[in-house]
Amino acid sequence: MSSNKEQGAASFLPTDRTLLVLQEAVQHCRGCDLYEHATQAVFGELETGARAGRPKAAIMMVGEQPGDQEDKEGRPFVGPAGRLLDKCLEEVDIDRRKVYVTNAVKHFRWESRGKLRIHKKPSMKEVHACRPWLDAELEAVRPELIVCLGATAAQSLLGAKFKITQSHGEVEKAEGRPPIIATLHPSAILRARTVEDRERDIGIFLQDLRKVRDFLN
Ligand code: SF4
Repeated sequence: MSSNKEQGAASFLPTDRTLLVLQEAVQHCRGCDLYEHATQAVFGELETGARAGRPKAAIMMVGEQPGDQEDKEGRPFVGPAGRLLDKCLEEVDIDRRKVYVTNAVKHFRWESRGKLRIHKKPSMKEVHACRPWLDAELEAVRPELIVCLGATAAQSLLGAKFKITQSHGEVEKAEGRPPIIATLHPSAILRARTVEDRERDIGIFLQDLRKVRDFLN
């Protein structure tokens, strides 16, 4: 039996690379096996839902993959992590309307635990398979700055050795790309074991987001 895992998304990309066309085309992607157990692919978007033409996004935020709620609704960052992100952006005065949000992987990877679908980290192979979609989004949106939320997105764009714990909040350069700042993923903050850990992580996240704001100013 042939496996889609080896294939990657490249051959599923349309020639017309506008966001509207990409968003429709990604639903037919079979570049790895993750589509098999997901409800739908979840492509990136501005809060306004604008995908046609070139959106005016200064920042592209890249997370890991859609979560349970995103998978059902077909939109990124609409679950608890998205709500935390929105709250923190507001707190540091970053206009959410200028932030395009997406994920390194477009289909939800999960495992069942009872009746629940629990998030399962995508493999680097799946991240690489999905990379053509992220590259196409970058080309269409052309943000001034990329913000990687969490290690999966950061390692996808900055290399497997990149460590969030050591280098979060720093402006990184990668050839052929806009500047990149990596920080924590809001989901990881929500998964903190104790209230103290969560408060510490929110502090780090806000500090990094202030650097994002200052960079753009
Ligand atoms: S995760 Fe990405 S590469 Fe895999 S099927 Fe979905 S869109 Fe295609």
